[in-house]
Amino acid sequence: MPTRPRSAPGAARRRTRQVMVGAVPVGGDAPVSVQSMTTTVTSNVDATLQQIAELTAAGCQIVRVAVPSQDDAEALPAIARKSAIPVIADIHFQPKYVLAAIDAGCAAVRVNPGNIKKFDDRVGEIAKAASAAGVPIRIGVNAGSLDPRLLAKYGKATPEALAESALWECSLFEEHGFTDIKISVKHHDPVVMIDAYRRLAERCDYPLHLGVTEAGPPPQGVIKSAVAFGVLLAEGIGDTIRVSLSAPPVEEVKVGIGILESLALRERGLEIVSCPSCGRAQVDVYRLTAQVQAAFDGFPHPIRVAVMGCVVNGPGEAREADIGVSSGNGKGQIFVRGQVVRTVPEDRIAEALIEEAVKMFDGD
Ligand code: SF4
Repeated sequence: MPTRPRSAPGAARRRTRQVMVGAVPVGGDAPVSVQSMTTTVTSNVDATLQQIAELTAAGCQIVRVAVPSQDDAEALPAIARKSAIPVIADIHFQPKYVLAAIDAGCAAVRVNPGNIKKFDDRVGEIAKAASAAGVPIRIGVNAGSLDPRLLAKYGKATPEALAESALWECSLFEEHGFTDIKISVKHHDPVVMIDAYRRLAERCDYPLHLGVTEAGPPPQGVIKSAVAFGVLLAEGIGDTIRVSLSAPPVEEVKVGIGILESLALRERGLEIVSCPSCGRAQVDVYRLTAQVQAAFDGFPHPIRVAVMGCVVNGPGEAREADIGVSSGNGKGQIFVRGQVVRTVPEDRIAEALIEEAVKMFDGD
């Protein structure tokens, strides 16, 4: 899918340094990338690779796997080698798993040096190994696991507490000369999250991984993520995104891609411009839209399809789209690049649209 390396309309993209997550650049002038996280037990290599393949097919560009045990750490070489997209190992506390992930060929590691320092201070060793392997580290501050020192100072996970925590975590690596870092500061409340990212964006030039954590099930999680990412990306803030949903991770990827497409940060695949229907509708707009969506699922070219329920706005929208229908009296006038090419009964509209779309690209 083509992508455009620019910010959403309205703001210049924040200037950040760039890190490489495997072959995927994050930050600088790189397009905003979409990532997700597997839900399988990582040590189940086959199941994890199967889910990574599904995510890859859905358009996921970077995948993260949880590494809570030695068995998971031992599975990393096979997963990193066989995954078609870069794999990030997500580790809390154990430095030995971080070093194992770097050795395993993982493209990046998510770990907070504050946790490492507390239990077994091998931050310098990790910085050295990551640096030698060219492996960036994501520092991920979450409201739910904020450092007790900052909780005591701010009383709760305020935007300032999240930003200060992230910058402090960065300083633990910077002391060792390591700056191949990207950062997230996640909160379940989009208002707090937006504020935290804005503060961070003002105070460092590390690339930022956007996320609303524990955003919930769809549609709530979708709405929270779309609103928060939309605000920040429109301000030029954000270099990679992960939508967190209490739903299969492929859904996260679809929503993430949709958010980037809506902000014109990525070229759309299929865009359906359909009316909401009303008392003037002369066909069943909901059924027709579902039929059109199914007919165009997997269509291999970017295309805008208009599905309009009557002649009020129908001809105008249908004419503006690549292909469209303006309905009336149980029939549909089919438009191709602004011209009416035929009129068909309601039950043949979806079929006629896909036929014309195929012809359109065959003739190009
Ligand atoms: Fe109603 Fe016609 Fe507008 Fe659809 S296009 S919402 S049917 S007026």
